[in-house]
Amino acid sequence: MIPYSRQSIDDDDIDAVVRVLKGDWLTTGPAVDDFEEALAAKVGTRFAVAFANGTAALHGACAAAGLGTGDRVATSTLSFAASANCALYVGASPVLLDIDRDTLNVDPAALPLGLDAIVAVHFAGLPIDLARLTNRPRIVIEDAAHALGAMTPDGPVGNCARSDMCCFSFHPVKAITTGEGGAVTTNDPTLADRLRSFRTHGIERRPEKGAWYYEIDEVGFNYRLTDIQAALGTSQLAKLDRYVGTRNHLAERYRSRFVNGRVTPPPAAPSGFVHAYHLFAVQVPHRDRVFAELRSRGIGVQVHYVPIHRHPAYERLGFRPSAFPSAEAVYAGLLSLPLYPDLSPTDQDIVIAAVEELTS
Ligand SMILES: *Cc1c(COP(=O)(O)O)cnc(C)c1O
Repeated sequence: MIPYSRQSIDDDDIDAVVRVLKGDWLTTGPAVDDFEEALAAKVGTRFAVAFANGTAALHGACAAAGLGTGDRVATSTLSFAASANCALYVGASPVLLDIDRDTLNVDPAALPLGLDAIVAVHFAGLPIDLARLTNRPRIVIEDAAHALGAMTPDGPVGNCARSDMCCFSFHPVKAITTGEGGAVTTNDPTLADRLRSFRTHGIERRPEKGAWYYEIDEVGFNYRLTDIQAALGTSQLAKLDRYVGTRNHLAERYRSRFVNGRVTPPPAAPSGFVHAYHLFAVQVPHRDRVFAELRSRGIGVQVHYVPIHRHPAYERLGFRPSAFPSAEAVYAGLLSLPLYPDLSPTDQDIVIAAVEELTS
């Protein structure tokens, strides 16, 4: 089976994890500090706060921003449900937005008025252009689960040049992995403190009342990353540029080799931007048939995503497909083809030949 994505793990990664296992700390300790420092340096932000996974990172960002009951939090309907679930976790109201068919992102220049926050998704790794954001809400959180390694004219995604916080995921299909893991980056020291507290039960140390003493003012969670995971993350992060370079190379190879005119390639990065190519999501006619046939031939295609408004949990909130004509039209043909740093040109050629044949 050729999967749609998978991790790349080498001996350096394994050695880094083994070193932690032989040491004194397994849970959140010095390796997490090192990973946070390396991530902040890599994306050019002041602070990075590691979380147990990307969903926890989004939850932490919404909580740290003070979002809650009555707040309207917008996100793209063409995303993983976590992009909207985070609003529900804090009692806020998700507002699903249709996509721009030219980018498959929300159109930043067409935000409705009256939002309190946006969770801005960089779909497939193509940065949403936050420089064009109109009707800017009070809080801007980036869901950059797809976009570690992507660039904008303002610098790396994650530097928070035009946002309050930026969330990453380190699930094995993402740009780098910690097994499960996530992080929030920010330039705001108050937000960084709130994120750290939220990640560990809301505990605030109060040494003036005794070395043992802590109190919980706002209830948090146990959303900590372990040192075992963080050591893997630091080792993986050192290879990010190579991973993203290979993903771009393979993506260009796909683009140049689909010649039957029936495969719609994903939007490319405009000048000044670098695509992270978490996904290579094409649009094809007769998608369901093509999907089933590719799977039966051992080609692990996937569909990203069932639009969030289609999930029963969101239908019950009143969202209807008719409000999302672009997402619906795109979803009908969407198909994620295999793309990961260790995808061999030979395997990629098998995918290309099969997709061309099945769409001709
Ligand atoms: C993967 C992903 C997440 C959640 O990340 P986990 O680490 O799996 O919790 C959130 N948003 C998007 C867009 C994702 O693709």
